[in-house]
Amino acid sequence: MNVVLKRWIRYFLPIQCVECGDAQFEVLCAVCQTTMLETSAVSLSLEGIDRVAALFRYSGSIKALIHHIKFGPSREGAALLAAVAHRRGSVLPLGDYDWIIPIPGSTARERLRGFCLPDLIFRPMVVTAGGRMSPILRRIRETRPLFELGASERKAEVAGIFSVSPQFVSLGESVLLVDDIVTSGATAQSAADTLRRAGAGRVDLLTVAAA
Ligand SMILES: [Zn+2]
Repeated sequence: MNVVLKRWIRYFLPIQCVECGDAQFEVLCAVCQTTMLETSAVSLSLEGIDRVAALFRYSGSIKALIHHIKFGPSREGAALLAAVAHRRGSVLPLGDYDWIIPIPGSTARERLRGFCLPDLIFRPMVVTAGGRMSPILRRIRETRPLFELGASERKAEVAGIFSVSPQFVSLGESVLLVDDIVTSGATAQSAADTLRRAGAGRVDLLTVAAA
């Protein structure tokens, strides 16, 4: 493209796509959104969780977008990701769960960001499916960065980091945990463990991305 023309476009459309760098109106351009939606969803297995699915593999556009949202922090980016996730559609039957619970991130980071990412991303999808989001998990302790730790250290680090609000009353009811990314799964396993102790039956996990 002609350099002068490109400058003009940049002037009127000052946002750049986080993936390809094209100037446009949204943090991820329409082309990159389509490319992202052409990839397939991921299903994986994690001990202690009945079913685990992710809308996308954590690479390319999704990686760039999540990075932008978390470290921006960008609420606008989160809203865009919610819209893309909604277009993808849930890979799990959202209407079938008794409880849909977002996994809260580090309290300090969430306070800084001003929003709970999994809640913001999945809420439109959950509402469309006729369900409701129940933010009833709390982090009661901060953890060291998990990527620095080995598998057994991670497990020990995240044991008992969540508490569940007394609002959660369950005798074997089904739970869907929602989160932004699943990496080792240790955090989600700890959340599932806390909920089972509080009476949950089946516990599934749905994330935006699987690393
Ligand atoms: Zn793009």
